[in-house]
Amino acid sequence: MFETGVRQLRMALSMTWGRPFDTASLTRLVADAAATVAEFGELGLEAREVIETPFADDTDRADHADRSIRRTARRLADLSPFYAERFAATGFQPRTADATTLLDLPVTTKDDLMSRPRDFVCHGSRPHLATRTTGTTGRALEIWLSRYELEVAAALGALSGVLHDELHGDDLMQVHVSSRATAAVQLASLTCRLVGARCRVLGIVAVDDALDALVGSATAMSANASYLAELVVGARRRGLGPDDFRLRRIDCVSEILSPAVRAAAEETFGAPVSDNFGMTEVIPVTATSCSAGHLHHDLTMGDVEVLGLTSGAPAAPGELGTLVVTPYFPYRECMPVLRYDTRDVVRRLPGPVTCEQAGIPATSAVLGKASQLIEVAPGDVVTPRELVEAVEDLPTRPWPARFRAEQDGGRLRLDLPANAVDGLSGAWLTDHFAGRGLDVRVRVVADQEASGLRRVRSDLRELGFAAAEQAAEPVGA
Ligand SMILES: [Zn+2]
Repeated sequence: MFETGVRQLRMALSMTWGRPFDTASLTRLVADAAATVAEFGELGLEAREVIETPFADDTDRADHADRSIRRTARRLADLSPFYAERFAATGFQPRTADATTLLDLPVTTKDDLMSRPRDFVCHGSRPHLATRTTGTTGRALEIWLSRYELEVAAALGALSGVLHDELHGDDLMQVHVSSRATAAVQLASLTCRLVGARCRVLGIVAVDDALDALVGSATAMSANASYLAELVVGARRRGLGPDDFRLRRIDCVSEILSPAVRAAAEETFGAPVSDNFGMTEVIPVTATSCSAGHLHHDLTMGDVEVLGLTSGAPAAPGELGTLVVTPYFPYRECMPVLRYDTRDVVRRLPGPVTCEQAGIPATSAVLGKASQLIEVAPGDVVTPRELVEAVEDLPTRPWPARFRAEQDGGRLRLDLPANAVDGLSGAWLTDHFAGRGLDVRVRVVADQEASGLRRVRSDLRELGFAAAEQAAEPVGA
């Protein structure tokens, strides 16, 4: 019975199909998949292929992109005031649009969305949930999602989770992203509901409260990288180790996760950490990291381009570029964006990859925001990721990394709090950074100034009176 559902789903995701999903059918499909896994332990090969190899080859993938871009653009021309105007102004032809002609359309920027939010809401759509970005740069942006969009994104996420054995009915997922990230929180709870799993949304609470709730209970956790770093430090301080936790997996999203913190988290919590890309504006388009550290982009639900930072043209192999994402209809319908310039910087890989996800297009991991790149000399750019990874690899384990970096006469001046360099000589530090290709002059600042050096999401602390006691209560006991 479930295999029948899989064939229907494959048809639904096929290239000739572009009408809205029947969310009730999707919901039933997830329930069938979860029940099949619960009864037989795993799904047949055919079921797994739906998610793992959505396209047979590059021609299929290009064809899917062209059809999806055309379908999405035609709808926007009819229903989106912003894009109807932009298409007319630029001569963009939605009826003949494809991945090539899309390159002639200007990218959509955060400023566009900030200045004219109402013009992005499509006629006839029914906004349901407002979600605000909680990024560390600039003002918050408000995105409206329809109930349909949330249900589709949650169902497809749940299906993927079940097919990959990442989530099943016995799981308890603990969520540590800001409670104000309403879309992320709703998607997590909806996904758990569809699979029959429990969901504990705690937000960015006191680390000890989070650990009290985690111990012996949660089997999955979702957290921002900076908060995960604080959890690792807190767990080690309390002498907690893998035997104290029941975690099967940890999902990290939205911030730079360094190899040092990732390895420490896996050792301390005894569960693999997956590092994912996701962004409110381009829900449900996501990307996941592989064992080689690439970021592999799921091109079923959206188009992903890498554009040169100043040229705006497709980045050459090896070049830095900004991720530009187009979520497709029928996945997004309420306040969709076309060619959204995320300003998240990646490097185009120099050539083909041979990792376990080699069939899925990849870039480097996200290296930071374009506005945070530092040009120390012409053509010599230092990315936030290089700095985070180098600082978090210090033997003092200053997690999450707090630093301020500036170009200073052809070198990099790096301000670090005193506890990050405790016991390390200037010469040792110079060698440490030089070994990572960074010509750095370290300036030490007082520990009290640490939190002002670099904003991280774990700074968005959520306070409460009795949250600690309530969170530690076992669920369903
Ligand atoms: Zn890879």
